[in-house]
Amino acid sequence: MAEIIKKCEPFIVIICCTDGRGDPRKVFGPKDNEAVVQANCGGRVTNDVLRTLHVLDALSNEGVGTVIVAHHTDCGMMNATDDDLRARMKRKWPEKAGKTEGIRFEAFAKDLRQNVRGEMAVVKGDPYSGKREGAGGAWLGGLTGTGEEK
Ligand SMILES: [Zn+2]
Repeated sequence: MAEIIKKCEPFIVIICCTDGRGDPRKVFGPKDNEAVVQANCGGRVTNDVLRTLHVLDALSNEGVGTVIVAHHTDCGMMNATDDDLRARMKRKWPEKAGKTEGIRFEAFAKDLRQNVRGEMAVVKGDPYSGKREGAGGAWLGGLTGTGEEK
């Protein structure tokens, strides 16, 4: 793994949604080994995403240099609330209804720019973010057009 990491530094990490309609490598254009794509529902900067940034920092010389948070229009996470998602699970698995209360789905506001700014604030608030000068966010209109904010 160390040999592979050395070839990629400094890392570009793209945090994006799991939505299969868009390919962040095609949108942002990094070559195969230039970017690490961290996809989760909604493209949230979760504790596990931060953990990945920290592991990449720890295992490599230069670590993560650029973080891009990319959210897209028509995201399912913007069209539901945690309560909606919890209710869906209760309907599907009523025998486990009592188990859903502790689940954090982390659905978010319908304002794409607000969401990206919020996630970038988490990235920039990380104690190791000071060296990530390339950090920025993007919102993708229909998964093809881009807007950018730093
Ligand atoms: Zn999405």
